Amino acid sequence: MAAAVDTAAVAGATGRLRVFFLPSFIRGHLIPQTDMACRVAAARPAEVEATVVVTPANAALIAPTVARAAAAGHAVRVLCYPFPDVGLGEGVECLATATARDAWRVYRAMEVVQPSHESLLRDHRPDAIVADVPFWWTTGVAAELGVPRLTFHPVGIFALLAMNSLFTIRPDIIGRASSDAAGTVLSVPGLPGKEITIPVSELPTFLVQDDHLSKAWQRMRACQLTGFGVIVNTFADLEQPYCEEFSRVEARRAYFVGPLGKPSRSTMHRGGSGNADCLSWLSTKPSRSVVFVCFGSWAEFSATQTRELALGLEASNQPFLWVVRSNDSSDDQWAPEGWEQRVANRGLVVHGWAPQLAVLAHPSVGAFVTHCGWNSVLEAASAGVPVLTWPLVFEQFINERLATEVAAFGVRLWDGGRRSERAEDAEIVPAEAIARAVAGFMEGGEQRDKLNARAGELAERARAAVSEDGSSWR
Ligand code: UDP
Repeated sequence: MAAAVDTAAVAGATGRLRVFFLPSFIRGHLIPQTDMACRVAAARPAEVEATVVVTPANAALIAPTVARAAAAGHAVRVLCYPFPDVGLGEGVECLATATARDAWRVYRAMEVVQPSHESLLRDHRPDAIVADVPFWWTTGVAAELGVPRLTFHPVGIFALLAMNSLFTIRPDIIGRASSDAAGTVLSVPGLPGKEITIPVSELPTFLVQDDHLSKAWQRMRACQLTGFGVIVNTFADLEQPYCEEFSRVEARRAYFVGPLGKPSRSTMHRGGSGNADCLSWLSTKPSRSVVFVCFGSWAEFSATQTRELALGLEASNQPFLWVVRSNDSSDDQWAPEGWEQRVANRGLVVHGWAPQLAVLAHPSVGAFVTHCGWNSVLEAASAGVPVLTWPLVFEQFINERLATEVAAFGVRLWDGGRRSERAEDAEIVPAEAIARAVAGFMEGGEQRDKLNARAGELAERARAAVSEDGSSWR
């Protein structure tokens, strides 16, 4: 592998504490770790120099955020190392840009960067290392260098605790996801508070099959436990009493530091090139009238599902702002005949990347149809926007339960058929159901009032958490 390209300051030259942040190759991990690096540098400008350690194409995704922080006088830098050769095309270095068929190569890349990380860390000898969960080996290098390693978790505490508990009963559920037993509903063991149940079909694949993650899970967890501590993008009031339980059993020190993303015009290009027109468009709409529809940075919809969603939004008769990822629309057939003209007055489709934080903070947004990726759940709660949940993969079905049953600021979009974490086993959500759920919510009533009130309360608490002397600020 070629030597790392150093754009960071000369080691130790500034006399600041040099903290290295190593996010993995997933946009939902890159974004919050970059936010974290910028916040740390902003909070202690004279004392800390934050360096985000990434591969070149991923550096491009975070460049606007880092440049803005640097322009504000904060010591934040990017240090690049080469993306490993795992058979991906030039510039394809994260889940969001790889096709679903190539996703395994991205995961493979995360495993084979170990030597690259080790030599980079030995060369640069930072004073502290904050590394993403999959990079378990950084605990060992940190020990060798005599510096602390903190694990950065881009997933919430409720889901982490649930997955760790379910891992202990894995021998009972392995292989059952696609069989008749998939209808089995489990009670998640070991969670404090109310009982949480989940069908086997909605569990992340690593709990029900042998995959790359089922092998790595215990090792990542062990390195997290032996490291200095764990940083999580959440705030204590969103996930009590799970935060207390997590601090007790899953980490030597646990820091709940979220929400890390601050909604403002300056978050326009956070994680990608954000479409500015959608904010002007939102400003033409009445307060809380628009449904924002976005499924994160990498999950894919089939052309059939995308068409049903288009028809459902049309039939709902509500204003909507819908982010269609290029993979969803790669089949030109996704938009039904004449659809764009029919919805032109009340719907806006963004192809690619929307400035989600800024959109959620816009007063015209009244609800968020979300896949329940952790960042999206946290961002919605922090913005005070109720969610209509449509989980797709991994821990999103667990996050959905936090949003709808525990934090209680959302409702399921659809419950009418077979839902599954494995897309090939899931039923297509029909247009009529989408229209009914969206219109039913937006037309108002007791449910909407209740969820609005709860979301507003969470937003207050999120603001308090990151304000001076709040739980996350501390
Ligand atoms: N995001 C965005 N614009 C988009 C899509 C996503 O800014 O068009 C951001 C979103 O605000 C969040 C992240 O990308 O910070 C997605 O993370 P999440 O955990 O919600 O989902 P994932 O992409 O990991 O499935």
